[in-house]
Amino acid sequence: MVRAEQVHKSFGPLEVLKGIDLEVRSGEVCCLLGPSGSGKSTFLRCINHLEKIDAGRIWVDGDLIGYRERGGKLYEMRDRDVAAQRRAIGMVFQRFNLFPHMTVLQNVMEAPVLLRQAKKTEAREHAAQLLDRVGLGDKLGAYPGQLSGGQQQRVAIARALAMRPKLMLFDEPTSALDPELVGEVLDTMKDLARDGMTMIVVTHEIGFAREVGDHLVFMDGGVVVEQGDPREVISAPKHERTKAFLAKVL
Ligand code: ATP
Ligand code: MG
Repeated sequence: MVRAEQVHKSFGPLEVLKGIDLEVRSGEVCCLLGPSGSGKSTFLRCINHLEKIDAGRIWVDGDLIGYRERGGKLYEMRDRDVAAQRRAIGMVFQRFNLFPHMTVLQNVMEAPVLLRQAKKTEAREHAAQLLDRVGLGDKLGAYPGQLSGGQQQRVAIARALAMRPKLMLFDEPTSALDPELVGEVLDTMKDLARDGMTMIVVTHEIGFAREVGDHLVFMDGGVVVEQGDPREVISAPKHERTKAFLAKVL
């Protein structure tokens, strides 16, 4: 479902990604771990072309992201085509970024209606189903400000799902939450994984990685230091840098 080959990305003189290779199969949950500044968010943003990569290639569901290949050469895609690719990739951030002046239901149905992906009645029905699925079936008419952080993050997940993505990217979705609210968001993500969604999750929640992850990737300094079965990497990390990092977060 996702394949990255030798992805490089610099910001000016700062080389943030120094050749990332990654493969995530359909239905898999890949957890991305690493110290602050190691390039995790940058890499996620490259996957949906919010950042343009300097070298390498990324495919999502067989589509080369951001470029067309013709005669062995790469050509940049038009904005319209990039937007279409991006729509198939749901993203959930640390901060929920819901529209404060819209109800929960309106937040979730907004994008499909605006992008004319669905008729309003269908979009509303689908949004209500998704909100029910994330445990908020009784909050359709509430405004984001009336919800807890955990509830807002679950709305953000429902909103991403409303576009019927093939892939979901999560960037530390629980790190802005009070500890007692983390569990409900992780449970929602667990349900999503169980339903077969392909997911890449940047998280420091080692328990989630161990329990739900199919694959764990440890990044440091813009490279993949170590990867493998989460249970194996967590219980017996091979690299000193992985050991040191896990010792801090466990
Ligand atoms: P954290 O765990 O703190 O979220 P991270 O692994 O997600 O860290 P990134 O956000 O990918 O790290 O940042 C990697 C490096 O790239 C950092 O040094 C950061 O300052 C730099 N960086 C990220 N985005 C930009 C940008 N738009 N312009 C310049 N530098 C950037
Ligand atoms: Mg980050």
